[in-house]
Amino acid sequence: AKSAGGNRFELADPEADARAITRHGLTTALPTALERGEFFIEYQPLVHLGDGSVRGAEALVRWLHPQHGVLGPDRFIPLAEHTGLIVPLGRWVLEQSVRQAREWRELRGGAEAMGPLRINVNLSPCQLTHPGLVQDTVDILERTGVEPDALCLEVTESALIGADDDLLKPLRRLAEMGVDIALDDFGTGYSNLANLRRLPVSILKLDRSFTQSMQQFPADPVDLKIVEGIVSLAHSLDLAVTVEGVETGAQAEQLRILGCDTAQGWYYARPGPPERLHELALVDATG
Ligand code: C2E
Ligand code: CA
Ligand code: CA
Ligand code: CA
Repeated sequence: AKSAGGNRFELADPEADARAITRHGLTTALPTALERGEFFIEYQPLVHLGDGSVRGAEALVRWLHPQHGVLGPDRFIPLAEHTGLIVPLGRWVLEQSVRQAREWRELRGGAEAMGPLRINVNLSPCQLTHPGLVQDTVDILERTGVEPDALCLEVTESALIGADDDLLKPLRRLAEMGVDIALDDFGTGYSNLANLRRLPVSILKLDRSFTQSMQQFPADPVDLKIVEGIVSLAHSLDLAVTVEGVETGAQAEQLRILGCDTAQGWYYARPGPPERLHELALVDATG
């Protein structure tokens, strides 16, 4: 907000200026950050609501910035999307996460009956339109020897609103290979339920706002009806329902009764280093 025209604008919002400077600094530092290995991934368990077992984890990227410390994705993902760095960064996250999934599989050993731990990776809309998406994913799975059905790619509902066939084609290819596609933040945007049938998704991730409305007991009857309706619609379309942002046992119980399949949230575990997930999954596997 610097203007030569007078101090009315010059001093209008020093905080906004500081934010703009940081944004600029972070944006220019992004490419070298990737080269220098300043990004790391935390994993948050996905828990089966029926039996409480850990079924997988969502990969959540962080940036250990040399001056600013650990930055959450909300601080830099939008900048990476804006500059296009999201493509190589997203590819890096995918490769790291799939490698991690393979390591978990090896460590889990005898618990094979429970199926492999699955890995969920977020895809930005820019990655969806990038022509290399399918080939990159195939290459990573082949290099690591991980089965496609151990991978779930999360795409936000808003990224697919009004999506034409060209945008859906790569997702369809991946789905045909056995990769799960989850519709993230479901219910926040302008959701066209009829549209669901057209999308190659197999999982709905109910947004945290629904979980929050289950905080009071008894929960708001209208909210209950809405979640009940979404779950039954999802199941009738053969979609599994994951809920995010579960912070209390009461929420978990309520959502289980409503028929949700899988849950994620602080009640079970905060996002953490990969070893933490391994501990949780092993404890779970041995009883
Ligand atoms: P998201 O995909 O909706 O991820 C869930 C967010 O909710 C995460 O925030 C997670 O730490 C947080 N969370 C989990 N459990 C709870 C809970 O019980 N209560 C509350 N209040 N929050 C909970 P995080 O890690 O800050 O990530 C924010 C967003 O950044 C993600 O939202 C996702 O959209 C994006 N993101 C993260 N990693 C990546 C990535 O590798 N690629 C892309 N494109 N986006 C990413
Ligand atoms: Ca997600
Ligand atoms: Ca989400
Ligand atoms: Ca979200």
